[in-house]
Amino acid sequence: MTDRVAIIGAGFAGLCMAIRLAQAGVTSFTVYEKAEDLGGVWRDNTYPGAGCDVPSHLYSYSFAPRADWSRAYPLQPELLRYLHDCADTHGIRPRIRFHTEITSAAYDERAQRWELRTADGRTHHAQVLVTAVGQLNRPKYPDYPGLDDFAGTAFHSARWNHHHDLTDEVVGVIGTGPSAVQFIPQIAPKVRTLRVFQRSANWVMPKWDYRYGPVHRALFTTAAGRLAFRGGWFAFGDTVLHSAVRGGRLGKLVEYLCRRQLRTQIPDPALRAKLTPDFPLGCKRILISDDYYPALARDNVEVITEKITRITPHGIQTADGTEHTLDTLIHGTGFTATDFLAPMTITGRDGRQLREHAWADGAAAFLGMTVPEFPNLFLLYGPNTNLGNNSVILMIESQVRYILSCLDTMDRDGRREMEVSPHAFASFQRHLDDALRATVWEAGCSSWYKTDTGKVTNNWPHRAARYRKLTRRPAPAHFPAAADNRDALTPEDHTGPL
Ligand code: NAP
Repeated sequence: MTDRVAIIGAGFAGLCMAIRLAQAGVTSFTVYEKAEDLGGVWRDNTYPGAGCDVPSHLYSYSFAPRADWSRAYPLQPELLRYLHDCADTHGIRPRIRFHTEITSAAYDERAQRWELRTADGRTHHAQVLVTAVGQLNRPKYPDYPGLDDFAGTAFHSARWNHHHDLTDEVVGVIGTGPSAVQFIPQIAPKVRTLRVFQRSANWVMPKWDYRYGPVHRALFTTAAGRLAFRGGWFAFGDTVLHSAVRGGRLGKLVEYLCRRQLRTQIPDPALRAKLTPDFPLGCKRILISDDYYPALARDNVEVITEKITRITPHGIQTADGTEHTLDTLIHGTGFTATDFLAPMTITGRDGRQLREHAWADGAAAFLGMTVPEFPNLFLLYGPNTNLGNNSVILMIESQVRYILSCLDTMDRDGRREMEVSPHAFASFQRHLDDALRATVWEAGCSSWYKTDTGKVTNNWPHRAARYRKLTRRPAPAHFPAAADNRDALTPEDHTGPL
């Protein structure tokens, strides 16, 4: 049997695609999910304090608003519940094949369909393949010598060991990114000593988190009330925060808030110096927290900035020769984010492999979604569609709308294939590269937004609103109808989508 659409992944993006397909009356689709549950990062990240630092009314589907969010910034259990509710309300759960890991997908040019292989050796077929595997799904561990020699308990923040009790232990944390900033305040009061190994000091802006009271709840029962909140946060992200990642003047407001928070929450000048960033605001993800600095200021917390040289059986050794003994080591070291679609093998026309051929210099896709020579393949939350300033759900919804429009085009024109032209792809990349050069991500800091060679493969450099406009519908010039037309257009045929 050949499905119309196969979706890989049942997280925020995959569920969005599935719900919208169902709403559009497309019945022939299957969602493949390697785990036993849906939810993506909100299933995997269960560390204490896990939550979203984007406000709930913006970090949710536009078509599934909720009046009863408990607080401004929802925690992981509430987000996972939301996704379960959405899947159930729209009847998606029976369409998900759990415990089904897709290891490879190859385009069959003769049959004009994708063949998917699963880890247990089965094959499935679909005309259109939509990948929805996220950017932050594979934990990255530090590669220090001796990592495996550590005799205590060790785990990654995205694979939190809930069977292990940290009470009264000496605990080490490597990493001070958005995940660590959320769990450090939760574990600091519990442990005897917390040693935080910081490689870079980050910019931390106030979160001003609060629980919604009766007045808010009454407001959110009206569409206008919900929209006002959603619109307000959206506008803040696309103006003030966007300015911050462009090095603009409005971004100075955020920098002021960060500096003021550091000054007021960290009275000790030596600790304050350690926590002062040495790169421009926005170069790495801006952290959003009210309780991170107070946790670091506790008597039982040490911030260690000496370079780590090795992991020993008893703890961590730093460049000054000190061995910092630990009972437990927590890796808050992030994810292999630039390795898009890994470890799947995706094979397009003429046996071309996505990672080895098309992406040899780093992942790239037209509007973050499609690649020449890979017909009927669409990526959700693909290359250069992450945001440092707004909710990625907005990007995902724009992509889903675009893909539905591509399906409509196929139905309307009797086409079996949608394949972006190489010229549209190249023109888009040129514009994208120019725009990326004007952002602070290129300002010399390291981050998960970039490959080892410094190419920014993850972030969208413009406003979310601009992406929405560009993805309104597929332009016929970008998708020439016949395969043999694929190279017929000249670069002059395209002014480029940006
Ligand atoms: P991350 O942002 O990649 O941070 C990893 C941290 O580990 C950084 O402080 C990094 O230091 C440090 N690190 C990595 N390798 C190291 C090594 N070998 N030695 C010493 N330190 C090392 O990872 P994350 O905190 O898990 O967050 C990843 C992304 O997930 C976020 O940017 C965000 O998009 C998403 N997230 C979102 C939320 C939310 O509330 N919306 C919450 C959590 C995560 P350097 O900075 O020096 O590299």
